[in-house]
Amino acid sequence: MTSATDLPGRVVSLGPRTRSGLLSTTDVAGANQAVVLQSLADHGPLSRAELARLSGVTRASIGGVVAGLLEQGRLEELPVKSTPGRAGKPSRPLWFRAVGHFGAVVIQPGGIDVAVIDMQGNIITHECSPLPTQSDGFDDAALEVISATLSTAEAGLAAIGLTIPAFFNPDGDIVASTTLPPLVGSQLPTQLADAFNTTVVLEDDARALALGQRWFGQARGEREFTALQIGEGIGAGIMLDGRLHRGPLIGSEIGHTVVDLNGERCHCGLIGCWETIASLRWLRGRSAFAELSVGHEMTPRLLAELDRSGDEVARQIIDEYADHVAVGVVNLFHTLSVPLFILHGDVVGAGDRFLAQLRARVAIRAMPALKSAPEIRFDENGAQSAVLGAAAAATTFSLGVTL
Ligand SMILES: [Zn+2]
Repeated sequence: MTSATDLPGRVVSLGPRTRSGLLSTTDVAGANQAVVLQSLADHGPLSRAELARLSGVTRASIGGVVAGLLEQGRLEELPVKSTPGRAGKPSRPLWFRAVGHFGAVVIQPGGIDVAVIDMQGNIITHECSPLPTQSDGFDDAALEVISATLSTAEAGLAAIGLTIPAFFNPDGDIVASTTLPPLVGSQLPTQLADAFNTTVVLEDDARALALGQRWFGQARGEREFTALQIGEGIGAGIMLDGRLHRGPLIGSEIGHTVVDLNGERCHCGLIGCWETIASLRWLRGRSAFAELSVGHEMTPRLLAELDRSGDEVARQIIDEYADHVAVGVVNLFHTLSVPLFILHGDVVGAGDRFLAQLRARVAIRAMPALKSAPEIRFDENGAQSAVLGAAAAATTFSLGVTL
């Protein structure tokens, strides 16, 4: 099992780790430990009895395996959680023991978010800074901004999660970005690893949101869900059978699936992408066309405020926005049967009316034969979701588990 301390100053990307061949007797003990750690990552804090049932380690062996992990300082017992109505001595759930603090760095067109976060998802510090504008010297300027916050960590960082809106290969080479071209070929991940002598875990921004929901959000223990980010663009982190879907280069470009053969040209170069009818660009254009006073600066939050003040046009645009978002949600639902969608980004500002409309439109657009529609919720971590996602990528790596 790899841990951050084994590989200081390295850049890695997360992915399935394969195990093959026969196990020796000593390996069996290690393998049982790995299975227990993975079960906790998959399900959240568990009692010994629950661990035995869910991990497949026998009841006879689970005590010894857990004792070893407690002795090694890799697990700890959380306070007793009593279950109402259940007789007998309440058990103490087991959970990962803190391995130190994590750095979280989120690079997006709007700026750089940098945070120091502990293993429970508590944010120690969090700073947002403008993105360096220059292509020449981008790496140096970004590193300076990032270091200013990360260097405030009291101890060394166990790992740093770095999320970017870009395509990168398994070696961590950034090969393309439609929204942030200066990132292509950037050596920032390596420079960051060298500067802090720790492992930098590179992750796609939308996939990191799904990891953040699994470790620190509403999806702990959920094996099938999608973290859907809707704002200037649309991205998805899709968890299937407990594992994050990762392609060889792109995980999901759901925003660039075509929903209108004769639609508008997307910034990606294609015609009629989902983004052309469900991103902020569409919302602003539609609001300007309807001559709403803040048309070109329109956000979902402003639109919801106008709706609440009784503006009929704003209400109509919210309903259209909900229908346009529903089209892509249903496409994902029909393709992958994902039963839960957690919405992130600017769309959350659209508020309760939007959410109710979205649920209704998804129910209408989903195949009647399925007799069900996915559950749709707003993300509850707000402005901290992105850095929690980056920290979750670092957490996943540091604990040696697979998500
Ligand atoms: Zn597109």
